[in-house]
Amino acid sequence: MAPQRILITGCNRGIGLELVRQLLEQPNPPKQIFATCRNPDSPQNQELNDLAAKNQNIVLIKLEVTDAKSLEEATTQVEKHLNGAGLNLLISNAGILQPSTLATADAEEFLKVYNTNVVGSLLLAQSFLPFLKKAAQENPEKPLGCGKSALINMSSLLGSIEKTPESFCFHPQLSYRCSKAALNMLTRCQSVDYQKDGILCTALHPGWVQTDMGGPNAAITVEESVKGIIKMLDNLSEKHSGILVDWEGNTVPW
Ligand code: NDP
Repeated sequence: MAPQRILITGCNRGIGLELVRQLLEQPNPPKQIFATCRNPDSPQNQELNDLAAKNQNIVLIKLEVTDAKSLEEATTQVEKHLNGAGLNLLISNAGILQPSTLATADAEEFLKVYNTNVVGSLLLAQSFLPFLKKAAQENPEKPLGCGKSALINMSSLLGSIEKTPESFCFHPQLSYRCSKAALNMLTRCQSVDYQKDGILCTALHPGWVQTDMGGPNAAITVEESVKGIIKMLDNLSEKHSGILVDWEGNTVPW
């Protein structure tokens, strides 16, 4: 059931980079990993560039998810490399978090976070939908899952409305929380509409992870998180359509 062709956003660091790394180490690695980042030529992308230099199945793609022109260019490039094949797995991983409390939040910051975390995910899915549909058509006999065609939106426990009272005092992150709650709704809507096309849509909480975003005091390492995510992706099925699951496969309440 391993996906053959995968696209992941935000691959130059954090969870995105580790996803690329661990996917390459799988017993049955994908034929193509479209690893996208905003500035492939930047020296800060050294690790991703090194991986791409050593692995022919990595295709580096420049992509700023909030920019329509960048999405159009990325789509054209990916289509060329797919050469008629479909895309089995699209992971909307790129995201931002800004300090934000009820007292300090302002419109500019709120809109910036919403634009990246929600609008970026929406535009990404719109752009690559034809290739996800194609993958589903290539495998009509397969059940819903990542081996067929799937869209994963990287969400967060902080977007869970039900869980908010447990952590709001310590981690207000207001604009981020609101954006991830909206991303959860987007995922639910996508799951309802795209199920008829054979595409599984699921929101994913990767755990509290030691990355630039999660910080050094986060609960788990990026290696642990991604190991869990890959196992979880492997087990995704129809019952995970339109829900929020965590890196260990547990359902998180909306
Ligand atoms: P990082 O901050 O380490 O990395 C974020 C990635 O997103 C970078 O590659 C960054 O690129 C990219 N990115 C940001 N904005 C854009 C954009 N507009 N277009 C394209 N790429 C962009 O974050 P993590 O790896 O920790 O997080 C990955 C995902 O997991 C996010 O969606 C996050 O919300 C989610 N998550 C993380 C948790 C954690 O504890 N770390 C907890 C819950 C959810 P660049 O280097 O160019 O800025």
